[in-house]
Amino acid sequence: TLFANNPYYNEIMQKLKSVFRLKDFRQNQLEAMLAALAGRDVFVLMPTGGGKSLCYQLPAVCTGGSTKGVTIVVSPLLSLMTNQVDALQAKDVDVLVWNSETVDHGEVMRRLRGYPKPSLLYVSPEKIKDSGALKSIFGDLYRVGQLARFVVDEAHCISTWGQDFREAYQYLGTLRETYPDVPIMALTATANQLMVDDIMQRLKLRNCARFKQSFNRTNLNYLILDKKTKVIEDIYTFINTKHRGETGIIYCLGRDKCEKVAGQLRQKGLRAKHFHALMSVTDKEQVLQEWQSDRIQIVVATIAFGMGIDKPNVRFVIHHDLPKSLDGYYQETGRAGRDQKPADCLLFYSYRDYKVILKMINNPKNGDPSELASPEARKRQESQVKMVMQYCLNVSDCRRVQLLQFFNEKFDRRHCRQFCDNCSHGAAMIEQNLTEEAKSIIDLVQEFHHTGQLVTLDHCRSVFKGADTSVIRERGHNRLPQYGGGKHLDSELLEQLFKRLCYLEGLDEVSMQTNGGWHVYYLKPGKRAAEISSGGEEIRLFYRPR
Ligand code: ADP
Ligand code: ZN
Repeated sequence: TLFANNPYYNEIMQKLKSVFRLKDFRQNQLEAMLAALAGRDVFVLMPTGGGKSLCYQLPAVCTGGSTKGVTIVVSPLLSLMTNQVDALQAKDVDVLVWNSETVDHGEVMRRLRGYPKPSLLYVSPEKIKDSGALKSIFGDLYRVGQLARFVVDEAHCISTWGQDFREAYQYLGTLRETYPDVPIMALTATANQLMVDDIMQRLKLRNCARFKQSFNRTNLNYLILDKKTKVIEDIYTFINTKHRGETGIIYCLGRDKCEKVAGQLRQKGLRAKHFHALMSVTDKEQVLQEWQSDRIQIVVATIAFGMGIDKPNVRFVIHHDLPKSLDGYYQETGRAGRDQKPADCLLFYSYRDYKVILKMINNPKNGDPSELASPEARKRQESQVKMVMQYCLNVSDCRRVQLLQFFNEKFDRRHCRQFCDNCSHGAAMIEQNLTEEAKSIIDLVQEFHHTGQLVTLDHCRSVFKGADTSVIRERGHNRLPQYGGGKHLDSELLEQLFKRLCYLEGLDEVSMQTNGGWHVYYLKPGKRAAEISSGGEEIRLFYRPR
């Protein structure tokens, strides 16, 4: 092969077979290992399930090249560490752990000071930051040339830009100065270019060998649906018809929602449990265990559930609520189909969720203004959720083209093989120019608003559709000039049009609490009502005629 002359190639091949019992490499694995053994800093960007761990585990058991002594692996999650350490020990690899659960520090210290040294040491970011004993051992190892490499797994945790930011990861920025000769390998599945630059800068990587592969996940089917009031029925039907008895994750925006949705699914006879950050560690561990071992089928979770989950047979990931960013959406959907078999990623979007997220961004947590992000951060978060909404509303471009474009990757639609909703509906979609109808709808809502009448979106839609109901007749709404203006439109399309107008701020839904405690949404003109009703924006919608 291309690498046969490389001085490290033979040992890598041999260890691949004898220690890891694998036949060949996945994309970029060999290249990353060769660069590592040549003593270079390495940055590995690979989608979840791509095989990042091997990139540092295998060089750690080699004796050639830069590997002299112990490879230090910083990993953010206890469960992640435990899984990897167990798997390595099963392969007779000499590996140690030092985290908050380590009982016998003395033994770990003795092993690190003595010979033969372990091949790998897994440490939590908190220990590497705070433990004086560990720092002093690292100093000793460094002086005798026995620090082989620092590995920063889930490296995006160092970036304050992401949702997985971890305070203790900041400390890793000092490794370069403290141990200037020790190469660093950073790995992540976060493909966002700004984040990548941020990580490299914070870790002070130099002359870094970078490996990036396509982020296309060929076996994931992306489906986006308009969220209806009875979304739980849609979810249940979807699981029951397409994934009966199979494993999945449902992501919700809030903790209460998780508990509620899990309960509703249990009532329907599905084995579902919730998972969120406010649960005790033991409860979380238990849910995780039950799910990993297939005793429960579905975890209904906030984004707290994710990093380090490596269950291979997740057949579906459902977003019950709108994700906050495309980056997050990609990560979350990425937990499906790690076994390379087909899996479904279903997202329910709604403009109401969009508004909820905008509100969360701009309102301080617990009313504490100091909890509010900086104006720049808020702008960024707003633009991120806007991009998610645009992704959902774009029903013509291939989902892969859209997603990968976000990661600066070009993708040829033909390679999707009809494995996303837009490609599979493809030719059946029709584009309609609904600018005139939109103007008329806004006029209608403005009329209601000016005459002080409280109306719901459903009511306005019925009026515009020209429905003949007693409520409409009693309120005299059948005599309005806009009554029946949308008679010719398919009701599905009409619903889409109203929601689109909300998203475009031509209309606005305001929620009010009734005496009974229910939330009712009333429709009123939005910020851009005048602009849109005077024809300031062309409104085009794609839809699939039935
Ligand atoms: P990541 O950390 O990138 O999400 P992992 O390192 O956990 O992925 O690897 C995902 C799965 O792929 C694991 O089950 C691993 O054993 C398997 N794997 C990794 N590299 C190879 C390879 N070269 N050949 C076969 N299987 C591999
Ligand atoms: Zn497609």
